[in-house]
Amino acid sequence: MKIGILGFQGSIEEHECVFRRLSIATKRVKTPQDLEDIDGIVLPGGESTHMLRLLHFNALWDPLRKVIQKGLPTLATCAGVVLLSQTIDNTKQEALHLLDVVVSRNGYGPQFFSFVEEVCIEGFTEKFRAVFIRAPIVRSLNPNISILSEDREHNPIFVRQDNIFGLTFHPEIGNDDRIHSMFIQSIT
Ligand code: GLN
Repeated sequence: MKIGILGFQGSIEEHECVFRRLSIATKRVKTPQDLEDIDGIVLPGGESTHMLRLLHFNALWDPLRKVIQKGLPTLATCAGVVLLSQTIDNTKQEALHLLDVVVSRNGYGPQFFSFVEEVCIEGFTEKFRAVFIRAPIVRSLNPNISILSEDREHNPIFVRQDNIFGLTFHPEIGNDDRIHSMFIQSIT
């Protein structure tokens, strides 16, 4: 198995580290050819505006959209959720329209309001230490999307739509590999 990680900027090495601990091979995805031999893809946290420009610049926007639409398992975190969303309600920014959620970018406020919260996640017996860095808020979602976790205000922070896992926090920060393991198990 090989997992692609969208490799332009953001939390790339941190995801690589987690997959290394799980003995899963990874590959940075920067060109359409890089999509050819992967079994899943991570859209990491970072800066969605920057990533979307580079997706166009590298002619990766349409090929990426196609493979995810066809069912390539996808783990999208933070900026990755913004990229995949159906609608961004507070900025005029292009989106891939593959995850049927409405998000507000930087929904909790600027960097100063980044935070850590111990959250309950469906299927996990122990809480998960979730790191939110200028995270988006999911304002609404299609009712057929499962919500696996919510923040204190009951905003969804972890959703699943078929093969797409969308998290507004950073599961790659810290030493807890349970979310990556769950993603891998969903593929095998
Ligand atoms: N605020 C960033 C954006 O909208 C996301 C931040 C993150 O990925 N940690 O692109």
